Amino acid sequence: MDHSQQIAGSHTIDQIRTRRRCLWIVFLTYLPAVWLSLRLTGSNQITLAVAIIWLVLAAVAGVMVSASRCPGCGKLFHMQGVATSWGARCVHCDLSLKPLKPTERT
Ligand SMILES: [Zn+2]
Repeated sequence: MDHSQQIAGSHTIDQIRTRRRCLWIVFLTYLPAVWLSLRLTGSNQITLAVAIIWLVLAAVAGVMVSASRCPGCGKLFHMQGVATSWGARCVHCDLSLKPLKPTERT
């Protein structure tokens, strides 16, 4: 399976990469955002609101990643049953999110 084929209704490799990138950005900016909010405002209430907003964003981003459909097989890229694996390969058909090496292209 290469990256040029796609099943209707599925997401492209780039869309899945973008969703994963958004999740990582939300995840990695959580503590700095909470710290910065507390530092700048000095308000526990505002910081709590920032923390809750970030958690909601993380939940949305996590669901978006989990709901990504593989362009190769059309199944959920990261989920098999209720188990979620956020690896860089489809859990069903092993399609990789990494760019193909020149020797792998046909
Ligand atoms: Zn697949």
